Amino acid sequence: MTSRIDLHTHSTASDGTLRPAELMRAAATAGLDVVAITDHDTTDGWEPALRALPTGLRLVRGAELSCRWDGEQPPVPLHLLAYLFDPTDPELVAELTRVRAARLARGERTVDLLRADGVDVHWPEILALAGGGTVGRPHIAQALIRAGLVATTTEAFGPDWLGQRYRLPKEDIDVFRAVRLIRAAGGVPVFAHPRASRRGRIVPDELIAELATAGLVGLEADHEDHSPRERAHVRGLAAELGLLVTGSSDFHGSHKAVRLGAFTTGVDAYERIVAASSGVTEVASG
Ligand code: AMP
Ligand code: ZN
Ligand code: FE
Ligand code: FE
Repeated sequence: MTSRIDLHTHSTASDGTLRPAELMRAAATAGLDVVAITDHDTTDGWEPALRALPTGLRLVRGAELSCRWDGEQPPVPLHLLAYLFDPTDPELVAELTRVRAARLARGERTVDLLRADGVDVHWPEILALAGGGTVGRPHIAQALIRAGLVATTTEAFGPDWLGQRYRLPKEDIDVFRAVRLIRAAGGVPVFAHPRASRRGRIVPDELIAELATAGLVGLEADHEDHSPRERAHVRGLAAELGLLVTGSSDFHGSHKAVRLGAFTTGVDAYERIVAASSGVTEVASG
């Protein structure tokens, strides 16, 4: 039997444009058998997704954690996908709460910087666009589009805007601490788009080897931000380090062009993730 497994998607609980319930219906319509909800630094989408889970679809509850590596200055930002962890783990909850607050502070400072240059964007507008979910640069991008300053999200992430000139750091989680916290909460950490060089700096393979020793379980290889060469490199590294590989869409609704199921994960890797977890179970309805 073949399964269509997409382990990286975003809802309105962060910077996606579909509500968690809509995301579940869209996943079923896209013909997925398994979908993970992995909003940035929050588990707020879990309950509404679970309640709306269509018959025949399996839900993997997860999150995408904003991390940093201090091996370079300024620190390199990176993303860890965390699957099936206990969402009540006090240390993890505290860290996610702290990062969401740091995102608010960074968002507001970004708006101040834009306004100082005469750009007509407003912080309350961005909060409204985020709708109570984790605030991210895609929400500021929407405000720039609304103000007629850029035409697309891609343009808003260009060097003149949020990609460089108006890109401010936020206080992310130390990546080794994140791996430890995820594992301690019964979760399974997978490094998201580790070679996405088109987004900015990437980390050396030596760091990935150290993270594997520290408890990292997998690497996301198939992702739209990886070239074929980068995908092959990630697969090779995973084989060397005994890590599993995933592929996923990183679906964000209309904030990105990528479709649900555009990249998928093999059944073996998926089963290894489920077997390695002890925080919460995956859920199948009906
Ligand atoms: P933040 O977490 O607030 O720094 O924003 C990062 C998010 O912006 C990522 O999760 C992507 O969803 C989105 N993003 C990053 N680069 C781009 C890009 N070039 N085009 C569109 N969206 C992007
Ligand atoms: Zn995002
Ligand atoms: Fe990411
Ligand atoms: Fe993502």
